Amino acid sequence: MRQMVVIFGKNLVSMAALIIVGVMGILLFSVFWQGSKAVITGTNEKFVVMLDAGHGGYDPGAIAEQDIYEKEINLQIAKKTRDFLVPSGIAVILTREEDEDYVPEGVTGRKTKKQIDLNYRISMATGAKADIFVSIHVNSTVAGKKSGAETFYYFGSEESKNLAVNIQQELIKISGMNRRIAKPGDFYIIKNTSMPAVIVEVGYLSNINEREKLRQTWYQDQVARAIAKGIADFFQNK
Ligand SMILES: [Zn+2]
Repeated sequence: MRQMVVIFGKNLVSMAALIIVGVMGILLFSVFWQGSKAVITGTNEKFVVMLDAGHGGYDPGAIAEQDIYEKEINLQIAKKTRDFLVPSGIAVILTREEDEDYVPEGVTGRKTKKQIDLNYRISMATGAKADIFVSIHVNSTVAGKKSGAETFYYFGSEESKNLAVNIQQELIKISGMNRRIAKPGDFYIIKNTSMPAVIVEVGYLSNINEREKLRQTWYQDQVARAIAKGIADFFQNK
């Protein structure tokens, strides 16, 4: 019995030693592994996406029922899109993480304020050497019947068109979404970016049914997943 205890004691010591060695090994390995992973992602294989949640701060974008703001939905979907992209190793930068704008104090004039704000977002993308620029918005009309997502690219930019087609292709797979196609548009932000750029209008705030859906997490998830899939496909087919 006594001998058993001794043996058991010895076993305990050697087991503890084994565990310590094992843990050290795992730690060493994980440091090495993370280090090597960082090297891989640091090469030119790493794509950078500038995701722009349209409007923000002083500028609410479209408004419905007095307190439903486009800027809030844009930001929610932009963040979700980022969450869907990051696991695939694509670097994502948001032009804003909260309800803010980039207009300095004292600047007046609707047009001037808008231009300063947009120019800042464009310069963020240039500074970050982003491969693409994706601006997320919600549409609105006076009539209120129109619905569905639309993706716009700037005339003449084949790469932008390609990106828009990839995104729109995924958006129309969402149940209940009408089959609009990617189309050219003459918008300041896609016209003045140096990288392929698109504007995704995820739906219509003016349409009662779509407005209700656009405020729901499950629907925002579907839209964000579609945008992310379109972006990943664009990079894959490059
Ligand atoms: Zn907008």
